Amino acid sequence: QAKLIGSDTYNLYKHEMRLDIHEKFHIENDLRRALEKNEFSLLFQPQYHIATNQYCGEEVLVRWDHPLEGLISPDRFITIAEETGLITSIGKWVLQQACLQKKIWIEKGLPEVPISVNLSLRQFLQQSIVEMVAEVLEESELPPHLLKIEVTESVMIDLDRTSTVVKQLLALGVKISLDDFGTGYSSLQYINQLPVHELKIDQTFVAGIGKGKQAEEIISMIIQLAHSLSISVVAEGVETKEQLLYLTQNNCHKIQGYYYSKPLTGNDFELFMNGLQ
Ligand code: C2E
Ligand code: MG
Ligand code: MG
Ligand code: MG
Repeated sequence: QAKLIGSDTYNLYKHEMRLDIHEKFHIENDLRRALEKNEFSLLFQPQYHIATNQYCGEEVLVRWDHPLEGLISPDRFITIAEETGLITSIGKWVLQQACLQKKIWIEKGLPEVPISVNLSLRQFLQQSIVEMVAEVLEESELPPHLLKIEVTESVMIDLDRTSTVVKQLLALGVKISLDDFGTGYSSLQYINQLPVHELKIDQTFVAGIGKGKQAEEIISMIIQLAHSLSISVVAEGVETKEQLLYLTQNNCHKIQGYYYSKPLTGNDFELFMNGLQ
């Protein structure tokens, strides 16, 4: 990047493009310092079992509180973290914090349901990923079955490597969930080759409930697929009663979304779970 900016090529870029590069550059630099400056935090969003209405887990969502820009969403910085390699340290920090928090909640008597942590594609394909997960589990003393790893179905790009990693993670005793399911073309074809525990229906499909047949057909197909593989299926981004009703009628197991709760800080999550909020 530095090379590009110093060269003549740079003058050819339109103003807009220049801003983009500038913004990326600046985020990249700030991202390098963000960990040591303690600018990351975690939010937790509960998941519910539809049939019993019971809390059955939570997903961890990272936030970056930039000193000047305020909260920056992961969609804006995870890609940059992947490109710069910073994802290794940020990802490990997220996993450590999540496991430690979960351990505390279990000790405080909250239900023994898994905590879900997202791993990006680059992170998942890293040589050291299984070792890293094993190390964090050991350090935190969290029972492995209380950790669920979420990877997007894009990991099927490298099915051989992914199968190996999935098997090694399963051997550690953790659970695995395929996130944003249904968005990639290869998902249906190869899913039976990956022994995962859960499919997460992408929220764009959930948003399409009641707006024509297309999204609904994909949703019911994913649910049937999960049933036929005897694995769990979660709908994410559930915001309305109508969506919940459709998912209930189509035998979706679990839901996650604003309908029940927005992602909460650790403190608020605890209050929410204790029925104080
Ligand atoms: P995701 O894993 O698919 O997470 C679901 C996203 O939907 C989250 O956005 C969540 O805040 C949002 N959401 C939850 N309920 C609702 C709802 O009812 N309606 C709507 N419209 N949205 C809802 P968020 O937190 O901005 O995260 C975006 C993506 O960034 C995540 O998508 C995940 O792929 C990635 N991400 C988040 N945290 C981490 C992390 O710690 N590590 C890595 N590698 N990626 C992360
Ligand atoms: Mg996720
Ligand atoms: Mg998702
Ligand atoms: Mg997503």
